[in-house]
Amino acid sequence: MAQKTNPFENMLEQLDAAAEIAGLDKQDYITLRYPERELTVNFPVKMDDGSIRVFTGYRVQHSTVRGPAKGGIRFHPDVDMDEVRALAAWMTFKCAVVDIPYGGAKGGVTVDPTGLSQGEIERITRGYTAKIADFIGPEKDIPATDVNTTQQMMGWIMDTYSTLAGVYSPGVVTSKPVEAGGSVGRKEATGLGVFFVTRELAKKLNMDLAKSTVAVQGFGNVGSNAAKYLYEAGAKIVAASDVSGGLYCEDGIDIPALLEHVEKHPRRLIEGYRQDGIKTTDNHGILTCKCDFLVLAALENQITEEVAKEVQAKVVVEGANGPTTFAGDKVLEERGVIACPDILTNAGGVTCSYFEWVQNLQHHYWDLETVNSNLERIMVKAFNEVYEVADELKIPMRMAAYIVALKRLIAVQKIRGIFL
Ligand code: GLU
Repeated sequence: MAQKTNPFENMLEQLDAAAEIAGLDKQDYITLRYPERELTVNFPVKMDDGSIRVFTGYRVQHSTVRGPAKGGIRFHPDVDMDEVRALAAWMTFKCAVVDIPYGGAKGGVTVDPTGLSQGEIERITRGYTAKIADFIGPEKDIPATDVNTTQQMMGWIMDTYSTLAGVYSPGVVTSKPVEAGGSVGRKEATGLGVFFVTRELAKKLNMDLAKSTVAVQGFGNVGSNAAKYLYEAGAKIVAASDVSGGLYCEDGIDIPALLEHVEKHPRRLIEGYRQDGIKTTDNHGILTCKCDFLVLAALENQITEEVAKEVQAKVVVEGANGPTTFAGDKVLEERGVIACPDILTNAGGVTCSYFEWVQNLQHHYWDLETVNSNLERIMVKAFNEVYEVADELKIPMRMAAYIVALKRLIAVQKIRGIFL
């Protein structure tokens, strides 16, 4: 059978499968099979050499049933409407799983930021923001960071929107630098959330984290922070990769040293890192290496049907959005590999974005202890809710997470009713 890799179809398959298990009536969730609003923009940007390039960007609001639309913006050459649509839908379910008062959205610009100057990236960010300015807002739709977008870029979004609106509006975007209304702990929050969920799952599985081995695909903001917290908990990180390649070390990678290397590298990559006994490997080698936990912190569609047959990890931890295809997921299940689903596992980022937004709306700022203890409380609660449903119905955690989310979404939809 041909692999389905259209991420939106992947999402619909997951959704329908979960609804069927829970015996939900399709009428009750039919609206969730369609995004509420979609916007495509084309905008000109003056490049450093004086030429003008026109870029294409998207913003999709999948649902505003439980609150304003919420979700990041990615800059990547593969960004297209199907991808943004799927990512927007996953945000709806993610926010419902952790029970924060948001719907779901996502945005993206089709661009490879490698090699672009800071000035060009700033002008692309501002050009895109100006074009979607009517569509977003602190009570409407709140962007944030995602693949290849930074806190600095969120600062430019805040500035562009505030200038156009004539109103200081820090709550229009989250993951801003702390100096510009960002929350302490936001940068680390997704990785920390991945850690909390992995720790809780390890307890349920009677696995000792301190005796476990971990491979991390993607050593960007999410993967590197997840690796750091897992390392600090005593886990042995045997493999790590990013766009520049992969590293494998049976005795464990010295994560503080690798983090220091990445910090100094001009493009924040792992390439060129040296350590005794370390070998290089490729993406396939990382995904299929022998380990207890395989943390996926890169892009969608990594664990396909073929790759899933070769995965040696006991648990796949989805720090990225949509890293496992529907067919890949089935193979993992058949082979007894546990998948800790994205809409739960990586929800720490948006949960901390919620804290940032609350702080912005109140103009009252929290300390790190308040941020992290609230994050831990919400992540552990969501994990337990999902785990209980999975355990009770004897279903994979992904299906359980969708069921938890769908029930919350349907409850609100029923109360709100249908306008007209
Ligand atoms: N891009 C992150 C995600 O996929 C964070 C989104 C947010 O903070 O709004 O969950």
